[in-house]
Amino acid sequence: GATIGILGGGQLGRMLAMAAAQLGFRCHVYCPEDKSVAAQVCDGFTQGRWDDRDALAQFANVCDVITYEFENVPVEPLAVIPQGMLAPGTRALEVAQDRVREKRFVEDVGGHPAPFLSVDHDNELAHAVDRIGRPGILKTRRDGYDGKGQWSIALAEDAQGIRIPASGCVFERMVRFECEFSVILVRGRDGEIRFWESTRNRHAGGVLSHCELPAPAIVSEQLEAARTLARKVAEALDYIGVLTCEFFATADGPVFNEMAPRVHNSGHWTIEGAVTSQFENHIRAIAGLPLGDTACVAPKMVMDNLIGDDALDLARHLSDPAAHVHLYGKVEARAGRKMGHITRIG
Ligand code: ATP
Ligand code: MG
Ligand code: MG
Repeated sequence: GATIGILGGGQLGRMLAMAAAQLGFRCHVYCPEDKSVAAQVCDGFTQGRWDDRDALAQFANVCDVITYEFENVPVEPLAVIPQGMLAPGTRALEVAQDRVREKRFVEDVGGHPAPFLSVDHDNELAHAVDRIGRPGILKTRRDGYDGKGQWSIALAEDAQGIRIPASGCVFERMVRFECEFSVILVRGRDGEIRFWESTRNRHAGGVLSHCELPAPAIVSEQLEAARTLARKVAEALDYIGVLTCEFFATADGPVFNEMAPRVHNSGHWTIEGAVTSQFENHIRAIAGLPLGDTACVAPKMVMDNLIGDDALDLARHLSDPAAHVHLYGKVEARAGRKMGHITRIG
């Protein structure tokens, strides 16, 4: 069988590799850490820094197609990967790893992010807060995930003393939303696009904690507009694979939050809850195979993340006959860390 290379060693890579194995592929992980939960389930593993072009070139040598499970992979060193081997391509990475670029890109294809201004130096913050209004959120342009690298600014003095990192920040208005949802699509090499159903997504402390189907009526009402935008994003990037766009459902329609050029936590329910999971369809898309059916297998479903200590009580989770329990094999249950998830169908 062909070998699929995965840049990044987290649980998304692990679940991609498990889906790939089911279709008879071999997987090879590349990541900077010496141990990773993705490499645990793969045939091969290369440890290398993101900027190590020699290691990346060697990795590319043993792969037939390469994908990523992590959007903050530096783009320039990926030039050593032969043309056409990387899917999705580097355009999606460039856009999705910089919040300002991403928001401008989405505006250019007709979407509506929250009002925002880039803040590249300490002395620009007060002006941005003034222009955009409070309450708002200051986010690092790069490298943020699970709500890390964010400061909520409700009062003018909340902005005092914040040091803007060299790679810059964006200040955006706090959106008053009824609920959050994401559009997850897969686009094949022939341009065909399929969507999964959208769940209601709930967060706790900036981290996704729960997804449920069916989502409230406001999500169904705004789904067409959100899907149209996600489709335009995918087409403008000539995207291959699974793409996720996060939205706030508001009284004024869907507000774009951010995109992830990869499989997404809010799509983990598709492993048991859809005919074809996000992981399998991502593998199918990058391998140039026909896409699978994205339909739900049941109208009702909940997915709960196991965060930090939640994962310790395995026996209790397993005693629920409706629970599909997934543990990611992480050794250290640090607070706020995603350790696994549970899906309940029907
Ligand atoms: P991840 O990539 O893990 O989804 P992240 O660190 O990139 O997270 P965001 O998605 O930007 O962070 O924000 C995390 C959560 O914080 C959002 O899902 C939402 O609940 C809340 N949030 C972020 N930005 C806003 C906003 N402008 N208005 C209201 N809530 C927001
Ligand atoms: Mg994010
Ligand atoms: Mg997010």
